[in-house]
Amino acid sequence: MDYAQFFEEQISGLKTEGRYRVFAEIMRHVSHFPEATQYTEKGDRDIVVWCSNDYLGMGQNAVVLDAMHEAIDLCGAGAGGTRNISGNNRFHVLLEQELASLHSAEAALLFTSGYTANMTTLMTLGAAIPGCIIFSDSQNHNSMIEGIRHSRAPRMIFRHNDIAHLEELLAAAPINAPKLVAFESVYSMDGDIAPIKEICDVAEKYNAMTFLDEVHAVGMYGVHGGGVSERDGQSHRLTFIQGTLAKAIGVHGGYVAGSRAAIDFIRSFGQGFIFSSSMPPAVAAGARASIQYLKQHNEIRERHQERAETLRQKLTDAGLPVIVTTSHIVPVLVGEASRCKQASDLLLEEHGIYIQPINYPTVPRGSERLRITPTPLHTNAQMDALIVALNAVWARLDLKMTA
Ligand code: PLP
Repeated sequence: MDYAQFFEEQISGLKTEGRYRVFAEIMRHVSHFPEATQYTEKGDRDIVVWCSNDYLGMGQNAVVLDAMHEAIDLCGAGAGGTRNISGNNRFHVLLEQELASLHSAEAALLFTSGYTANMTTLMTLGAAIPGCIIFSDSQNHNSMIEGIRHSRAPRMIFRHNDIAHLEELLAAAPINAPKLVAFESVYSMDGDIAPIKEICDVAEKYNAMTFLDEVHAVGMYGVHGGGVSERDGQSHRLTFIQGTLAKAIGVHGGYVAGSRAAIDFIRSFGQGFIFSSSMPPAVAAGARASIQYLKQHNEIRERHQERAETLRQKLTDAGLPVIVTTSHIVPVLVGEASRCKQASDLLLEEHGIYIQPINYPTVPRGSERLRITPTPLHTNAQMDALIVALNAVWARLDLKMTA
């Protein structure tokens, strides 16, 4: 086989479809988020970031940065090993206690990313529990899908957020088979929110465990930032709550929280946990400071929701095709891959506005979009400049005005 030719053909296929990914090279500056610098071959340019998952700007919060500086000065850079082999730093343990408390759970377990947390936990449960059937929402994130797939457990896909369909599938499964329902709270591309209570009701009725990915909700929903499960008063009903430390918490890493026994089981059998070096202690210290800060500052969450609503209204008033959501995510429909990329390029090159295109396979073909994530730090003036730029790009590319 001509390996080089194979690789090149695959890449040229992506380019033909208009969904070859080009990463903007940026530098964020402390205290200036969402402003940043972009490095290009033609020189540097000032930009405003409108697509960050640092949803609350905590990646630049002074309390978080101080905690990280202090931890580096105290114990250095890396953790020095896996948790089992000299890499179990005090900051990891303190962060796990903080996470357990955030989700009113007995215990929590850290991973090097949210992806690994999902993949490892679902793979371990599905592979180890004899006869376990996994019921998975059709729009679950790739990390959950891959975890379920690699577990080799039988899987049933229920229509997105469709309780009746979930119940139908649960009812059809053998009554004594172990079962697990895997779903997310905020779905990051459409910005819609799962009916957690109703899913727990059905899961309990059929004696199924529940696994909830709160990656796009933790820090942002609930009076302490414990996610939509906290907001909806359902945290205590979930077998596992999974989250990331890399989005609203503003740092890096992932975790699962649950009962002492369940978490001890994943700690003891989860290969993506056991065989991977633990995160740098300063990362754990920063994440802990961020969670503690967010627990006490509900006004950031209120401001975040207000900003999202204000932007949604401004886009609607401007007649742009906003996909209406009930969360902080504000998608604007383009509907075609290469035009979506063109719109994103024009925004960046001509208006200094950074919103990366979202194309297949992240969203279905025909629903390509710009996914806008306003933060508490985006101003009205920045929003107005965004609308002017979007209008100019929509006119230039003759894009459709309805979602
Ligand atoms: N779960 C969902 C729903 C996500 O969107 C993502 C990442 O974007 C992850 C899990 C993975 O989290 P992390 O970025 O911490 O690996």
